[in-house]
Amino acid sequence: MAKYIFVTGGVTSSLGKGIIAASLAKLLQARGFKVTIQKFDPYINVDPGTLNPYEHGECYVTEDGAETDLDLGHYERFLNIFTSQANNVTTGRIYQTVINKEREGAYLGKTVQVVPHITDEIKRRMQLLGQSDEYDIIITEIGGTVGDIESLPFVEAVRQLQWELPEEDSVIVHLTLIPYLKAAKELKTKPTQHSVKMLSQEGVHPDIIVCRTEKPLTPELRRKIAQFCNVKQEAVIEAADAPTIYEVPILMMREGLDKTVLKKMRITDYKEPELGKWKEFLDKLKYPNGKVTIGLIGKYLELQDAYKSILESFIHAGAMNECQVQVVNVHSEFITADNVSEKLSGLDGLLVAPGFGHRGVEGKIEAVKYARENNLPFFGICLGMQMAAIEFARNVLGLPEAHSTEMNPQTKEPVIDLMEEQKKITAKGGTMRLGAYPCELLPGSLAASIYNQTKISERHRHRWEFNNAYLDAFEKAGMIASGKNPGTGLVEIIELKDHPFFIGVQYHPELKSTVENPQPIFVHFVKAAKTFADKKQEAKKTTLQKEMI
Ligand code: GLN
Repeated sequence: MAKYIFVTGGVTSSLGKGIIAASLAKLLQARGFKVTIQKFDPYINVDPGTLNPYEHGECYVTEDGAETDLDLGHYERFLNIFTSQANNVTTGRIYQTVINKEREGAYLGKTVQVVPHITDEIKRRMQLLGQSDEYDIIITEIGGTVGDIESLPFVEAVRQLQWELPEEDSVIVHLTLIPYLKAAKELKTKPTQHSVKMLSQEGVHPDIIVCRTEKPLTPELRRKIAQFCNVKQEAVIEAADAPTIYEVPILMMREGLDKTVLKKMRITDYKEPELGKWKEFLDKLKYPNGKVTIGLIGKYLELQDAYKSILESFIHAGAMNECQVQVVNVHSEFITADNVSEKLSGLDGLLVAPGFGHRGVEGKIEAVKYARENNLPFFGICLGMQMAAIEFARNVLGLPEAHSTEMNPQTKEPVIDLMEEQKKITAKGGTMRLGAYPCELLPGSLAASIYNQTKISERHRHRWEFNNAYLDAFEKAGMIASGKNPGTGLVEIIELKDHPFFIGVQYHPELKSTVENPQPIFVHFVKAAKTFADKKQEAKKTTLQKEMI
């Protein structure tokens, strides 16, 4: 039977519960345990798929097509495993299940209540992944902050589970903040004491307290937290601000978080953590040999979390190339034909981001044109790929009215059109083309050389697609379909023949990049950007030399 670790948060949100949970999982995995993480979110949306990126950041899609919280991205990137729908549950999904059962008459005339019916459903889902013998340890992150009205049923479910499970089969880790008051020059423990008190009032007592802090915790402070929060001193873990999230597992190991957890679980038989690959990655990340500047052309740029997986993929790919990747945000709404070269001329590569709706698309199209005409390495993802197709149709094929029916339903040249299966769909939640689909690559293409194979599988999240009625004309003019779905013939990858690096993909490669397995298109894109930067440097040198003569 699996053992359970529950991670709760107190004092404020955004303390990095997901990173702490993923770091703990990484350490336990490195010690030889089979671990997975799941997230329980207290909001009422059935899943985050219908949320605007400004609300909740990126929507992360799993292999099985679940639209999930972006923390699942961290779990996959840290652990190098796949997660699934079972790894992310919201209040909405819990209630939906209970209400559906009530309508079926499954409660046999009983009054359906938060306790026990909602809490029972939460507990059932918390233990779902633990029922197979696939995992030794299941970590459950409870979204939100202790004391929120909406997280109460989840905390109550944890309380009950802790009571039901053998003592050594559950561990509660509580993450809090120890604020530093500049004026008093002091770290303050009171908010942590209050937060632990609140959790205890709800019936759950933490075994371990992880303290986010800007300054090191002194032994006296650790003692104070331990004493007033009623935990052992070794169970007070310092989580200092780290230069990169990938450093956190190492920091947690130094603090003994994993060992304290194992002790509570009465597990004594474990090996030293194998973190060779992880540390190698960290070294490359910390000591790069060069630098490239990539423009991220998007429209949700005010919120970093909106493009989380893309940014993390660049970190993995940069380390692989031993090169720092500086990502510069360029707001697509403000790119015009007049300013495009001024805005993009300093870049070594251009990524046009995924997105929905018409806002900012003309700027994206201008940016693609600039990359195509100036041999600037180009990478388009989902909407970015669709914009590349529209740009090519307008400016190379001579179809000025080319568009996507998403932005212009009446367009005379629908080079991007709604997928056939989507035409009957009206409901928005969970109805896109979602999850992993196979793709066959054209031998000899850039795509095939990047992946170094011809059969791949990647994850999707879209409704529109390349309109195959235009494929002939595109290919004759030099833009080829180098990846297609073997069953339906849907175009999944387009690339330009006469360009050093120009690729657009209908899927989301950023969802499968991990520390140990950086996504190959990102790796090759950064490499191409490096070549571009080197050439620029060379050209500069030659001009300088000429001037000196
Ligand atoms: N809006 C486009 C579609 O639905 C692209 C989606 C995306 O970029 N994820 O096809």
